[in-house]
Amino acid sequence: MAFEISFLIETLVIAVVCLVIPLAFVAVQFLAKFKSRLGWLSYSLATFFYTLFVFVDLFWPWVSMHSRYAVMVLALAAPAYVYFKKIKKLNFKPEGKKRWVFACAGFLAAAVFLFISIHAISAYFYPADAKTINLEFPLRGGAYYVSQGGSNNQLNMHFAKLQKYAYDILMLDAFGFRAKGIGSQNLEDYYIYKQKIFAPCSGRIIEANNNALDMPLGQKNSVDFNGNYVVVECEGARVLMAHFLQGSVLVKANDQVSAGQEIGLAGNSGNTLEPHLHISADDGSGNPVVIEFDGKTLARNSVVVK
Ligand SMILES: [Zn+2]
Repeated sequence: MAFEISFLIETLVIAVVCLVIPLAFVAVQFLAKFKSRLGWLSYSLATFFYTLFVFVDLFWPWVSMHSRYAVMVLALAAPAYVYFKKIKKLNFKPEGKKRWVFACAGFLAAAVFLFISIHAISAYFYPADAKTINLEFPLRGGAYYVSQGGSNNQLNMHFAKLQKYAYDILMLDAFGFRAKGIGSQNLEDYYIYKQKIFAPCSGRIIEANNNALDMPLGQKNSVDFNGNYVVVECEGARVLMAHFLQGSVLVKANDQVSAGQEIGLAGNSGNTLEPHLHISADDGSGNPVVIEFDGKTLARNSVVVK
């Protein structure tokens, strides 16, 4: 029961941060009586960069990926509309000390959110000298979402060195949600659960496990990190895929697999809060390898349609 509450609270917090606050900023654009163009500009920049931060950084399938784009369109359209309607004819500079203080506070807030957003956006770019491997996407028949991924810890909470460039992948429905219901406690409600996983490359299986228990939602197995997993060796890299459904893994050590061959089902075994597919690669000598799918790297909020 405790976890049920925390899943619900998590969704509510994301709803407030991603939807309620940006929409309140838009409402204020229309309702506030701006006295100068500079005052309006500082407010608009602060609210835009806040919205950019949540657009890049937050977990949108908790409140629908579609709302991510709707919020951004509103954040751009509302100030433009209000400017031509009301602001254009105002004086440029604010009058009085108090209004200058408000304008400066707005510019300061804008600078802070711009800085945080730039750091988040930089996670979409991987170091040029990092080894890269091009793989086939391991899931099919839907839209898939990267919840953890990127070249820095702001967008990618994989802290182990070999998993530095790992991706955690969820599945979306047509409405842009990753699960049925709000904060559901039922594994079956998470769209990735029991999806078929396919070999992302041709190569040899070097490790596999098929016996770990599927964890209840919200309860991580902090002893066995990978749960049921497969490691395939291809193109000089070791590719780890983890958190398979117990008993679903179709391959064992030393098997040869071809790219696109079914190897198991997505589950919730190991160190995982909700069903997802973890995929990461390393060079076998202690260095993480960046994964490209169809020639493209991914990061949090990337969507792959297959
Ligand atoms: Zn992971």
